[in-house]
Amino acid sequence: MLMVANWKMFKTVQESQAFVRELIRRREESTLSNTTEVICPTLPALFELSQLCAGTTLHVGAQNLDLGDEGANTGAVSAYLLREAGAEYVIVGHSERRRLYGEDDTQVGEKAAQAVAAHLVPIVCVGETQSQREEGKTDEVISRQVQAALKALTASTPAIVAYEPVWAIGSGLVPDGAEANRVAGVIRDAASSGLPVLYGGSVNRKNIQEFAKAPLLDGALVGGAALDVAHWMDLTRLWEEVRG
Ligand code: PEP
Repeated sequence: MLMVANWKMFKTVQESQAFVRELIRRREESTLSNTTEVICPTLPALFELSQLCAGTTLHVGAQNLDLGDEGANTGAVSAYLLREAGAEYVIVGHSERRRLYGEDDTQVGEKAAQAVAAHLVPIVCVGETQSQREEGKTDEVISRQVQAALKALTASTPAIVAYEPVWAIGSGLVPDGAEANRVAGVIRDAASSGLPVLYGGSVNRKNIQEFAKAPLLDGALVGGAALDVAHWMDLTRLWEEVRG
């Protein structure tokens, strides 16, 4: 199973290092049997964390990429540069990027393709808003987002999709495990491949086992609860308790 921490715009470089050092120390005492852990810190901390994680079981990912390889793009960071800085994964199409920065399905697809070209594994986020859900459009929205995001990828390209209902992110609200499992099925059908599917949105130590019991889910993408090392370790342990 796969657990991804999305730290968003939280933690200084020093705080990020302290978290990872502590996690490495505690993992030496309690290893996980079957879990890949990916930490997605802020950009300034990415290189430092990739150095710290080298030779451990931890992996590092970025939260976004900009299109292009290099050029006169002030402020932009390409997939190639992220890979060079030690990232192995990159989150693409997070709903906060779609909402705050106007990213559309076409751009998300281009970013996923660019990630793959730079040998990064894209973690593509898809999810319906509250109003789309109320209008019964969840499956239509999810299928459209998945197909657009994976358009340029082949079935054998390593990629991950995270089902993140927009209304669940940071809200404390979650779908039940059966609904998350059902939507994971919609994602697999739309992707026409057996790629891993994660659930994300207000995951915490109280609800994670609900999602671990969903057979079509392969792990979780976690925001707030991934900022605390003890909480993060509880999440991975609780998932493994259910899924082994
Ligand atoms: C996220 O933003 O990807 C996320 C899952 O956040 P939270 O867990 O805080 O809802």
